[in-house]
Amino acid sequence: MDKPLETIIVDSILDAIADQRLRAGTKLGEQALSDLFACNRAQVRRALATLTAYQVVDHLPNRGAYVATPTPQDARNIFQARRAIETVTCRNAVREATDDDITALRAHLAEEDAAKGRDNRPAAVRLSRGFHVLLGRIGRNPVLARYLEELTMRSSLIIGLYASGQATLCAEDEHAQIVEAIERRDEAEAQRLLDQHLRHIESGIAFDDNPPATGALSAVLGDWRG
Ligand SMILES: [Zn+2]
Repeated sequence: MDKPLETIIVDSILDAIADQRLRAGTKLGEQALSDLFACNRAQVRRALATLTAYQVVDHLPNRGAYVATPTPQDARNIFQARRAIETVTCRNAVREATDDDITALRAHLAEEDAAKGRDNRPAAVRLSRGFHVLLGRIGRNPVLARYLEELTMRSSLIIGLYASGQATLCAEDEHAQIVEAIERRDEAEAQRLLDQHLRHIESGIAFDDNPPATGALSAVLGDWRG
């Protein structure tokens, strides 16, 4: 196994949050996780500390770790931060994108389309997030890309908590329009489309919905061996 177990634990939990299998407020018991990943509790604690730094896990004194429950104000702050960062990463992408990058973006759009065609919502949510992370990488500013990783992860948590149905999945035609603007090297249009796209996602979040419950931790994370 090439990845350290702590990284596997972190990635499994992040994937489950992004896929909306692991919902806000779920307790992440140290013993349950160490049983599930066949490791010691010190490894679990280190993994949970990493997730706490990402702000997708809250650590409550004497109560343990829980999947974070962002408030509506947190959600607004996160989307405002995304608009600020992503209009810059998008402009960078227009300036930096190579032919290979455009090919990668096109391939990503095709994957998103296929996931929606199969009605595979977890994959569609993961790929929606992946599009924004990919744009961040193409912009070639690793500092901004790192913030974007965290913000899109927290957005997935918000979408998992408050959204139902297709309402807040990224519309792939909006992604496709952004890619076209990048291909034309039209900075202003790419930035305008991206800002509008993020506003569409945010406006689809219904804060009065009751968050759905998570299934048992073992059912959610039990397939980590792939
Ligand atoms: Zn999107």
